[in-house]
Amino acid sequence: MAHCVVPAAEEILDREFPVLNKGFVRLVDYLGGDERIVQAARVSYGKGTKSYREDKGLISYLLRNKHTSPFEQVVFTFHVKLPIFVARQWIRHRTARLNEISGRYSVMKDEFYVPAPEDLAAQSADNKQGRAEEPLDARKAQEALEVFTAGQARAYEDYTRLLGDVAREVARINLPLSLYTEWYWQIDLHNLLHFLQLRLDAHAQKEIRLYAEVLFAIAAKVCPLAAEAFEEHTRGAVSFSAKEFAALRAKLGGAADEDLGLSGKELDRFQEKLKSGRQV
Ligand SMILES: Cc1cc2nc3c(=O)[nH]c(=O)nc-3n(C[C@H](O)[C@H](O)[C@H](O)COP(=O)(O)OP(=O)(O)OC[C@H]3O[C@@H](n4cnc5c(N)ncnc54)[C@H](O)[C@@H]3O)c2cc1C
Repeated sequence: MAHCVVPAAEEILDREFPVLNKGFVRLVDYLGGDERIVQAARVSYGKGTKSYREDKGLISYLLRNKHTSPFEQVVFTFHVKLPIFVARQWIRHRTARLNEISGRYSVMKDEFYVPAPEDLAAQSADNKQGRAEEPLDARKAQEALEVFTAGQARAYEDYTRLLGDVAREVARINLPLSLYTEWYWQIDLHNLLHFLQLRLDAHAQKEIRLYAEVLFAIAAKVCPLAAEAFEEHTRGAVSFSAKEFAALRAKLGGAADEDLGLSGKELDRFQEKLKSGRQV
């Protein structure tokens, strides 16, 4: 089968999509698309692409049934510029190949992440890993921003001063997590969807979520049918434990909440899932 060319993907190749104050995602290259998933899945029958409707149905079927290997036939190479604290979360996804700028070889640029005031909030009262929904008041936000920018300026000034006497690989060690780094990141669609499932989720930190949104929008240009199937069967889906499922059946049969067999916290979680339509 010939090389897949996806016109909508060709249009965005090499374009920088901004994320945060100085970051971006750029699609460097792609291999395959919806058509490749279909070709790969049908290889055993020796049949290629059929109608759009049948291809859409097949891709949806594959994802719904976790027949994921055809999705591995689509590959993306991204160039990403991101703060180091986001990179530390991102790098936990081991099923990709990457090459990062070297702070031993190059002088790091004076580029730091500074949150927008509306992204500054107190520690969440109910989520140990997150921030409250309400942003800080203007005065506290201003103070926090001054602390960030003053610390970044001082650290970078020290870094440039040390570069006169100390090797780059050591001079950099006091640079903060807000410093931007860059990498090429190559991943196949199956593993990208796994990354997106985790990092588009409301439990992920907002900053990496914003990158995930851009990655997903780009992936949707390359393989719109797979992206649609992901929205349907993964992103928009909610899973229930066995106990929750029994409660759901009982509720559909007319049982009152106190008779669902769930304890206080279990019931709260169950109701939250039903209300928000997302995993909690
Ligand atoms: C909201 C959130 C909070 C998190 N908080 C923390 C935290 O506090 N501390 C922390 O350390 N991490 C944290 N993580 C990172 C998390 O534990 C995972 O390391 C990360 O999400 C990568 O997931 P993964 O291993 O499934 O992905 P990948 O590394 O991309 O792997 C994909 C899949 O491949 C398989 N796989 C890959 N490598 C191996 C291997 N060596 N052995 C067996 N199977 C493998 C597994 O099935 C895996 O699910 C957090 C992640 C999220 C999304």
